[in-house]
Amino acid sequence: TSFNELGLAESLLKALSKEGYETPTPIQTQSIPKLLEGRDLLGIAQTGTGKTAAFALPILQRLAPGEIARPRRVRALILSPTRELATQIAESFRAYGHFMNHMSVATIFGGVSHRPQEERLRRGVDILVATPGRLIDHLDTKALSLETTEVFVLDEADQMLDMGFVHAVRRIMKTLPSARQTLLFSATMPKEIGQLAGDLLTDPVTVKV
Ligand code: AMP
Repeated sequence: TSFNELGLAESLLKALSKEGYETPTPIQTQSIPKLLEGRDLLGIAQTGTGKTAAFALPILQRLAPGEIARPRRVRALILSPTRELATQIAESFRAYGHFMNHMSVATIFGGVSHRPQEERLRRGVDILVATPGRLIDHLDTKALSLETTEVFVLDEADQMLDMGFVHAVRRIMKTLPSARQTLLFSATMPKEIGQLAGDLLTDPVTVKV
């Protein structure tokens, strides 16, 4: 399979070739067409499998033709357990979206001051990559609303669990609109993740690599 056959837009194909990607990885081949259709996804995959591109490419493509609301409102939310991973995910969105207009990507994580993040959020963002604790801070101070979220990604769900983020994740879930596309990625499937997946996902496609 080639990236051409997955239904991706020309601007994304151009960015992929700029990144030096020649062929899609198995999780990309299996996930991208289903995600472009708008399906929910349960991805059982570790880091290194290409899972970031598997979710980032369809998100960029599905959001691109939309009307740009002014001010910009969060349209895709990606939750990540760590600052490092959140930063990498945001960089991937920027790289893949290089030839697409008007996509604003921001990263929110703890351990740094709140104010610059509040100012960034006030300027508006389309795609928000965040760690759960700091995201809740911004929800509590009303610096942020997630009411307009169209796509929600919970990345490394098992690591979220290990780091004690499940309560925070469940609180964030409650503020999301029910009409949305949801993706959950986890390297392992302990019982609690199965339950979370059951609560979050509607008729998901399951991809295990
Ligand atoms: P991930 O599993 O998302 O952390 O990705 C692991 C690494 O593989 C990252 O450095 C990506 O840039 C790279 N990568 C993802 N998909 C491809 C692909 N189809 N071809 C070549 N490299 C890729």
